[in-house]
Amino acid sequence: MQPNKPSQIYVDRRKTSRPAAPLVSLVVPVYNEEAVIDHFLEATRPVLESTGLAFEYIFIDDGSRDRTADILATALENGLPGRLLGLSRNFGKEAALSAGLDAVRGDLAIIIDADLQDPPELIIGMMDGWRAGYDVVYGVRVDRSSDTLMKRSTAGMFYRLFNRLANIDMPANAGDFRLIDRAVIDALLKLPERNRFMKGLFAWVGFPAMAVPYERPPRKAGTGKFNYWKLWNFALDGLTGFTTLPLRVWFYGGALIAFAAFAYALYLTLRVLFYGVDWPGYASLMVALLFFSGIQLLSIGMIGEYVSRLFGEAKQRPVYILQDVIEGAPPLDAKTSPTVADGE
Ligand code: UDP
Ligand code: MG
Repeated sequence: MQPNKPSQIYVDRRKTSRPAAPLVSLVVPVYNEEAVIDHFLEATRPVLESTGLAFEYIFIDDGSRDRTADILATALENGLPGRLLGLSRNFGKEAALSAGLDAVRGDLAIIIDADLQDPPELIIGMMDGWRAGYDVVYGVRVDRSSDTLMKRSTAGMFYRLFNRLANIDMPANAGDFRLIDRAVIDALLKLPERNRFMKGLFAWVGFPAMAVPYERPPRKAGTGKFNYWKLWNFALDGLTGFTTLPLRVWFYGGALIAFAAFAYALYLTLRVLFYGVDWPGYASLMVALLFFSGIQLLSIGMIGEYVSRLFGEAKQRPVYILQDVIEGAPPLDAKTSPTVADGE
């Protein structure tokens, strides 16, 4: 799909007003990532330091049950710039991202997975895009061969369906891995909904966007957290959050079926008039009965999907609950201060 095609004027104007020394916030949701978190720090830190900018890590511990929080707390204690937000339980990645964005102090945020499936080197290219005036610079997976065929084809179907039904353009094969400017963060924070389908929300808020292609490697270590049932519900959340077409389509379906029924009634009447009465038709009756009860249940189910989400929104529960915040070092300016954590 086409990303937002920005008017060049806005991009140019932003380009001239970018702060020279921005604070970069890395937003990292983590859930049971003890196997990979050290690799992650080793891989991202040199990249951030090479930019010569001040940066902070914002880890969101999404209710991990392993040593993830311990490892991060130690790293922060040893001088890693940033902090760890401990959620009170597992709220899911979308909620964790919301928590992270709420806590961002930077002029821009980079959202990145902890499992190194989002290559940290790309951050450099994303920063270039931001300097060039783009408010959103998102990674696009050109090669999904690390995903199973099943995941790739269902994901492809989802993007096609979503973009056709919802009135926003969500770039296909773009994940959450992206850089967003302060302006975009502020726009996201203003969205009141509890159902945080982030990819959709990113697309919904708009702003000049640029894509950077990358190959998605397999997980460095640990295991993926999403199974097909979760993904299916995730897809439903996405669709119901951004389009009401599944609700409205029954109007046309109903009209079409009513018209067909009327035509069939006319045909039956004429047949009786011309050829008299006969009594066959158990099979056709049965088929019609099953067909229409199926359609009715389906449409009620569809309404149920929306009602259940309305219910979720109406309760007004918070998206996440923080149980603790562990502060690390203040944002590190690599130009002036030496690396603190090394050698501890
Ligand atoms: N994650 C999370 N909460 C969850 C599931 C996942 O914070 O309930 C984090 C996870 O630690 C990782 C990122 O979200 O940093 C992506 O998770 P995963 O690699 O399992 O997803 P996939 O790569 O399969 O999309
Ligand atoms: Mg992953």
